[in-house]
Amino acid sequence: MGMNRKRSDYVAHSKKVTRGPRWKALRLQALDRDDWQCVQCGERRRLECDHIVPVRDRPDLSFTLSNLQILCGSCHARKTRLEVGHKPLPPNRQKWRDLLRDMQRNLIEQKG
Ligand SMILES: [Zn+2]
Repeated sequence: MGMNRKRSDYVAHSKKVTRGPRWKALRLQALDRDDWQCVQCGERRRLECDHIVPVRDRPDLSFTLSNLQILCGSCHARKTRLEVGHKPLPPNRQKWRDLLRDMQRNLIEQKG
């Protein structure tokens, strides 16, 4: 026991930071620095501001720009999964998820 990290635990810690007005300004700074795209895959939509070292582990770095990076929703979810201690999805399952996401995205673009 005690080895299992809870996702809710991480979320609760980061919520305390991302609720405040100070966060809004910092998030914009991070978005500008990373050119409004996911630093891992270049996606420009569904962008989220991630703490490279989680708030739970280093609360003192909560408002440090160099500890922030812009990730898209799917890269962010993958990172959180690892932090929480889940194994990453096997490559074939990850590929399938990415494929589904691309299909959804294409559908949305065609509609627009
Ligand atoms: Zn991404």
